[in-house]
Amino acid sequence: MTFFERYFSRLAEKFILKHETLKRVCFFIISQKPVTKLFGPIFTRNTDIIELDLTYACNLKCINCVRSCRQAPSNDRMSVGQIRKFIKETIDNNIKWEKIRLLGGEPTLHPDIFKILDLLLEYKHSHSLNTCIEIVTNGYGKKQKDILLKVPKEVKISDTSKKSEVQEKFFAFNIAPRDLIYYKFADYSIGCRAISVCGMGLTPFGYYPCPLAGGIDRVFGFDIGRKKMPSLDDSMVDQLEISCQYCGRFRGMGGWVKEEIVSPTWADAYNRYRIKKPALSLY
Ligand code: SF4
Ligand code: SF4
Repeated sequence: MTFFERYFSRLAEKFILKHETLKRVCFFIISQKPVTKLFGPIFTRNTDIIELDLTYACNLKCINCVRSCRQAPSNDRMSVGQIRKFIKETIDNNIKWEKIRLLGGEPTLHPDIFKILDLLLEYKHSHSLNTCIEIVTNGYGKKQKDILLKVPKEVKISDTSKKSEVQEKFFAFNIAPRDLIYYKFADYSIGCRAISVCGMGLTPFGYYPCPLAGGIDRVFGFDIGRKKMPSLDDSMVDQLEISCQYCGRFRGMGGWVKEEIVSPTWADAYNRYRIKKPALSLY
């Protein structure tokens, strides 16, 4: 990125973050091809944080779930072997993660959750003392609360304290920008702020430039997950170009909805999923 591009990027982010409506208008403007051609990419990929989708099982099934746990239920989950592989790749590449976040679905529903936590803590102790291991839970129900009580103290618990399947601040994940005529000239390769804030995603099917892209892939069946850890200079733009055209977040945060709005491309994908779940190759 040139100095000018960096300056524009920071200015744009500060401006965009101020108001929700403005956010969406700005996201729309900055994602148009003539603008990205002129100013370059706005968001840079965060290579210090990773979110692991441990399981797609969830006890809540929220409306507009960004992993489609409600819309496309699945028993897919990461195996202990895959977690070992992730740790080995991490050590081999001498990576010291700032944060490893465990999500899902509801991660406490993973049958091997404590084994997985042990392995990650072992990595932390032996290779990267400053890494924050965080489990992100909906905190809903006695069973989940009981499991959380047994989580080692060194693990940070981020409890979103959900009370029902309806959330106050969920956006319409299932509105695919490609279904909207005014996104005809969007440059999906730029991704969105998620690649800077949330970091990479790892699912049973591989690595993705952001955590939502893996949830999109498992429904559409593109099978684009990287099967080995991406190098730091891998922009992962090829995956963004595919995933972002289906992702409601590309339209910017805000515009909270409580009902499920599903655009035609997603409706087709969910129908296909119900008939035959895509078979993706494993990480
Ligand atoms: S609690 Fe989280 S993972 Fe579960 S359905 Fe709701 S949004 Fe999806
Ligand atoms: S897939 Fe969605 S969340 Fe991920 S970078 Fe693209 S628009 Fe953002």
